[in-house]
Amino acid sequence: MASEVVDATAPKPRGGRFCTVCNERRAALKRPKTLEQICKECFYAVFEDEIHRVIVDNHLFKPGERIAIGASGGKDSTVLAYVLSELNIRHGYGLDLFLLSIDEGITGYRDDSLETVKRNEIQYGLPLKVVSYKELYGWTMDEIVKLIGLKNNCTFCGVFRRQALDRGAALLKVDKLVTGHNADDIAETVLLNILRGDIARLSRCTSITTGEDGPIPRCKPFKYTYEKEILRSWALNLLFTYAYFKRLDYFSTECIYSPNAYRGFAREFIKDLERIRPRAILDIIKSGEDFRISTSTKMPEQGNCERCGYISSQKWCKACVLLEGLNRGLPKLGIGRTRGLNNERNKDMKETNGTKALQSKQFGTLDF
Ligand code: SF4
Repeated sequence: MASEVVDATAPKPRGGRFCTVCNERRAALKRPKTLEQICKECFYAVFEDEIHRVIVDNHLFKPGERIAIGASGGKDSTVLAYVLSELNIRHGYGLDLFLLSIDEGITGYRDDSLETVKRNEIQYGLPLKVVSYKELYGWTMDEIVKLIGLKNNCTFCGVFRRQALDRGAALLKVDKLVTGHNADDIAETVLLNILRGDIARLSRCTSITTGEDGPIPRCKPFKYTYEKEILRSWALNLLFTYAYFKRLDYFSTECIYSPNAYRGFAREFIKDLERIRPRAILDIIKSGEDFRISTSTKMPEQGNCERCGYISSQKWCKACVLLEGLNRGLPKLGIGRTRGLNNERNKDMKETNGTKALQSKQFGTLDF
């Protein structure tokens, strides 16, 4: 690992290139971000040190804080839980760490990945809290998809998850919530917000910490970490034991309801750019950070939902509008641009009285 001492007198291994960091061991991979040839021991050290620097330079945590790690059982959040618990001990951050998982109620996907998180709870010694859509909203995603089909399911799921994470974090009484969003995710979101003309989200999607004016701020310690590096560290960690390697299948399972084609196109576009020019991901994030919003652009004013009290720029928050639609058998009620949401709700009400049908337009939901 990072602290391993290299014996400079030992004979160098034959064949292959040497690590550009220690110049002693054989290089095991080329870093996607810097294209350096590096051995796996130095890669672990550099990878973990970079995350530590991001945490320190951005003052992400204060000693004694309670931190919830949004844990899905996927590669990003599992590596985040592992690295954060290691750094917390190594550098004496003094944090109380918890795992927080959301059970959307997706049979054959979330039930399997939750089993992984339950194993992580034991492996890393981090207490786990699971909150489910069923207990919060009275609906599982399986039931929602049965009602609405596969067209707008990710809109429901994304809106409900965002609020569920906040509610779970409040139950844990944590000071902050950290998520495993990586550099690729953030570059993708910058692009999507430009394509959708969503200025409000564009202005905050590159921030490493968001929601500081709300009850529970969210941090993204992997903001500058390439997805490929997380995959590398993940695979290399797992190769140490055969049992761990076998479990990789569970982590890599795709959601059975994942038709979010629009986001998928943006993801592929970013991956194509990265192949041509690896720095493109960081440059897109930089562009997002440097956007200046014109003072004449009208930004939504944040208030609270009249129904549930959750943060909202409308009378009702989007989760309440969507839920109202589900409970009334009008699932299209909240599908559309957030700005006109409550107006559209009224229009849809009229539809039940035989008036003009609501022409709603599908927009996927952004994660942050
Ligand atoms: Fe939910 Fe869509 Fe993600 Fe599946 S792909 S977990 S339905 S947001």
